[in-house]
This record gives sequence, structure tokens and C-alpha cells, in this order.
Amino acid sequence: MTFLSIQNLKVRYQTQGKQVHAVDDVSFSLEANESIGIAGESACGKSTLGLTLMRALQANATVSGEILLDDKSILNMPDEEFTKTLRWKKISMVFQGAMNSLDPVFTIKQQFEEILKKHGFKGDRQKAILEAVNCVDLPTSVLEKFPHELSGGMKQRVVISMALLLKPKLVIADEPTTALDVLVQAQIMTLLKKLKKEGISVMLISHDLGIISEISEKIGIMYAGKIVEFGYLSDIYKNPKHPYTEALLKSVPKLKGESNLVSLQGNPPNLVNPPVGCRFYDRCPHAMEKCKKEPPKIITSSGYVLCWLYE
Ligand code: ATP
Ligand code: SF4
Repeated sequence: MTFLSIQNLKVRYQTQGKQVHAVDDVSFSLEANESIGIAGESACGKSTLGLTLMRALQANATVSGEILLDDKSILNMPDEEFTKTLRWKKISMVFQGAMNSLDPVFTIKQQFEEILKKHGFKGDRQKAILEAVNCVDLPTSVLEKFPHELSGGMKQRVVISMALLLKPKLVIADEPTTALDVLVQAQIMTLLKKLKKEGISVMLISHDLGIISEISEKIGIMYAGKIVEFGYLSDIYKNPKHPYTEALLKSVPKLKGESNLVSLQGNPPNLVNPPVGCRFYDRCPHAMEKCKKEPPKIITSSGYVLCWLYE
């Protein structure tokens, strides 16, 4: 059964009289218990996609398209209803850099309580907080601590447990391991895998294809506001179709065996005035005349690829 369906999603930011086409005609779906990685270089629109699902975009954003979560329309629902039924209850997010936004003047417990209060939680607060803390393998002693008394890894666990407080079905994690050392990164990934085993779907937003491969069945490769390739991760890692996916995979260092690292020359197009044809045209080694004029979209066995080579 389809759990999450995103169709023709477009997000534009109005800024200084111009429009930034941050997410442009993005579509994909997830079945129940599936997880997805959203990968791509900086500023390609990954965070905007996550923030749109949470209805947490800044006021200068306009959104069109459709997002259905368990058949409920996230975009068409009044905000009050979204807060009452979905926000943090079915869908939650570990925001990028959230561990640095913990309030320095309140203990961790006070911050958990504030979230429960804000979301009108009616059950046993103490029990809910202890469950969330246990779920991320933190000692209950952290509850009495202030953020500055915790290590980076512990703070990241705290923000993940906050996202789990109301037992959502989908957790969006935006760069959850960035700025943590490799050992702590591994611990956070173990934790996300454990959540997945417990039936939570994870949308992992990252520039790191290695960590995405640890957790996701599906993957969306984002480039300049578009998902240029979407499908099952095992298919795409084994047989990448889009030249950008190929370049991304070649840029991942391997610990063992042959490593043929390739770095991609050039820059993505400006999202204020993106090209009408393929957005990868200027950097693509296979570019053809047609690519410049018409935007491609080719359906594959498990997803799609925005590339005329597969017409
Ligand atoms: P990163 O990996 O660096 O976080 P990203 O892939 O998550 O990048 P976004 O943060 O979604 O990318 O940004 C997509 C585009 O939208 C960028 O060009 C960015 O500058 C622009 N953008 C993001 N937020 C706003 C805003 N509030 N107003 C105007 N432009 C914005
Ligand atoms: Fe390259 Fe053309 Fe495919 Fe774009 S559509 S990725 S330019 S071959």
C-alpha cells in the first residue's frame, strides 16, 4: 500500500523580486515501511523538499502539487488540522543542525515537556519522555542536564528522540550525521537502522551516498531542484542511469579495492532562471542537441530517469 505519494511538487522562493525554483516537478512514492535517501550536492533543494513535507517552509515560499501521507493531503489540510493529526504525530523531522538549536537555558526534560504541551499531548508525559529517551539508548540522567553538558552525539540523540516523542510513522532526518566524528556517525546510523526495524520509515537527506546505502530501499538523486533519478537503491547503485548519478557514485571513495575517484567539473545552473531542457546539459559528457531544448522524463522498471539517453 502506498504510504507516501508526492506528485508534481514545486516550491518557489520569492526573493528580491525573483523566484528561486528550489524544487521543480518532483514526484515519487513510498510503500509502507520503506525508507528513502535523498542525495545531491549542496543547494539542490533537498532540505526544501523535507521542509515542504513538514509544512515548515519560510513565508517567502509558494508550493504547488500534491503530497499524500496515508491518503491524507498534507498540502490541502488547514494548518490547525495538520498540527492536530499529522505534525509530529505521523511525520516529524530532525532539522539540519537541530542539535545546535536546543535551548541553552532549559534542561532537556523541560524541552521535551514543552513539545508535549505544544502538541496537546493528553497521556502520561513522564512515560512518553522516558520511552523516547530509551528508544535512542540515552541514560535517563540526560533529562536533568542542560544542552552544554552533553556531547555532540548525545545532543543528536536528544533531537532524534524529540522527533520520536509522538511516535510518528515517517521521520525526515536532514544531514543527521554531518559535523559528527565517524564513530558517532556510525552510532547514529545504528540508531536510525533500529528505528527502521521498529517500523518507522526514514527519509534520509544527505550528500553522503555511503550512509544513504545503509538504510534506504529507495533513493532519489536530486540535481538543481529536480529528482533526476528515482528507484530502488540496489538497482541504481549497481546500474546508475543518469550521468549525474554515475558521477556522484564515482566520487565516493572506497576503503578497499580499486578506487577511480572522479570529480565533476562545472557548477549546477542558477535556480532563479533554470534552463528549459535538461539541467545537467552544461556538465554532461553525453549531451545532445535535443537535451538543451526539451526536458526529459523516462519511466524505468522501478522508477524514472530524467535523461534522453534512455528514450
Ligand atoms: P544544503 O545541502 O546546502 O542544505 P539543499 O540541497 O538542502 O542544500 P536547499 O536548502 O533546499 O538545498 O536550497 C535550495 C535552493 O533554495 C538554494 O538555491 C537556496 O539558496 C534556496 N533557498 C533556500 N531557502 C530559501 C529562502 N528562504 N529564500 C530564498 N531562497 C532560498
Ligand atoms: Fe546528459 Fe542529455 Fe541525459 Fe541530460 S538528457 S543527462 S544532457 S544525455
